[in-house]
Amino acid sequence: MHVADTRTKEQRSRIMKSVGSRNTGPELAVRRLLHHLGYRYRLHRRDLPGKPDIVFPGRRSVIFVHGCFWHGHDCDKGKLPKSRAEYWIAKIKSNQERDARAMARLKETGWRTLSVWQCELKNLDTTERMLRKFLGPPGFRSKSHPTSLKRALKNRNGRLD
Ligand SMILES: [Zn+2]
Repeated sequence: MHVADTRTKEQRSRIMKSVGSRNTGPELAVRRLLHHLGYRYRLHRRDLPGKPDIVFPGRRSVIFVHGCFWHGHDCDKGKLPKSRAEYWIAKIKSNQERDARAMARLKETGWRTLSVWQCELKNLDTTERMLRKFLGPPGFRSKSHPTSLKRALKNRNGRLD
């Protein structure tokens, strides 16, 4: 399915700049992208296993945004420093085990999970496709939509999300 890119060059460059910037970090970059794509979410629900970074209660879906180093991704950013290797291996292993436990518990209770890795944010188009595939089309809960538009969307999609 082709999805028209409605972003202006300016918006795109602003989002790109936020990726990996010192003051924002990967999680904020994903949140900005989601918001821009029209998704609405909640953050860090403490009542859910692993306190997922981004939560979509209506879709019963959660997203974890993982720093490659801290969560031991098999990529360049995930490489261990040479000094104190054992310390880092133990630390990262315990993070990975905690991640795995949280995912398993979420799945048991009917939540869908997606992990987005920091290094994947280098390609925003790929990230966008991945998010859309995981979440489906953005909802139209906003009260700012005129009723007629809501009705039109409802007719086309068969339901309002
Ligand atoms: Zn990575």
